Amino acid sequence: MDYTKILSEITSELTEVIGKGKVADYIPALAEIDSSKFGMSVSTINGESFSVGDVDEKFSIQSISKVFSLTLAFSKLGENIWKRVGREPSGNAFNSLVQLEYENGIPRNPFINAGALVITDMLITTLKEPYTELLNFVRSLSDSRNINYDKRVAQSERENGFTNAALVNFLRSQNNIQNDVEKVLDVYFHYCSITMTTKELAKSFLFLSNHGLIPDKKQRVLTKSQAKRINALLLTCGTYDEAGDFSYLVGMPGKSGVGGGIAAIIPNELSVAVWSPALNKKGNSLAGIKALELFTTKTGMSIF
Ligand code: GLN
Repeated sequence: MDYTKILSEITSELTEVIGKGKVADYIPALAEIDSSKFGMSVSTINGESFSVGDVDEKFSIQSISKVFSLTLAFSKLGENIWKRVGREPSGNAFNSLVQLEYENGIPRNPFINAGALVITDMLITTLKEPYTELLNFVRSLSDSRNINYDKRVAQSERENGFTNAALVNFLRSQNNIQNDVEKVLDVYFHYCSITMTTKELAKSFLFLSNHGLIPDKKQRVLTKSQAKRINALLLTCGTYDEAGDFSYLVGMPGKSGVGGGIAAIIPNELSVAVWSPALNKKGNSLAGIKALELFTTKTGMSIF
């Protein structure tokens, strides 16, 4: 497969689309990002990588961090995590409050904000150093030491994250948060503020294409069964109330973030990361989805 050619075709076919949509401005620090950026990287399980565009520029991974926090919690706590969070698509926006009340404080899945706040709470209880350990985990997945929190973005969200504050307080009132709500918010906002390049992000998802094993290090992150299960959740819940359309158009398990990134995988083959900051109405990268749709069309790859 000539990935270099495919990536350059995708870029040229998207010139009219890149920049369409709206950057996330409910987090003021993200509103400043240039909406014309676009980068896309592919990592194969054979150790090859291919990239096009702004692929060495760090961007805010936001909700893509929910895959890392879930993976770490799942590897430490196993099936116990499902006592406090569900595995169903929400059909609602990622930051919706409404369903949480009807369902007595058990979030539908770990990829909406309420679910990720519960997972963050589990990590605070379980890990000695929740800030450092998650960061080191992502560094080892991506094989890059140079991965950090963006304190300015975390602070910006801290000052404006009223909906997340409402979610965590409601969760606490339903006894589904064990730690101090301010602490949970701070750790959660730090996780969301991690910055990565598309090259690093593609690499960090490879263990999900490779049955839970980091290919070049032969290091096991999850069991084969657990990796399969995370992929199932990515497909059904990874792009929130657009997961049906994403499966229909793209056909890959994937996770988006309001920084404009999307990471997705094809089992036994590859992982791909794309970044384009302008979002559609569901909070997913508009050009990013289009790029992945073109990628699976041109390569003929799909999990189906
Ligand atoms: N930090 C963002 C929030 O909590 C993450 C949301 C997202 O990327 N979808 O609102």
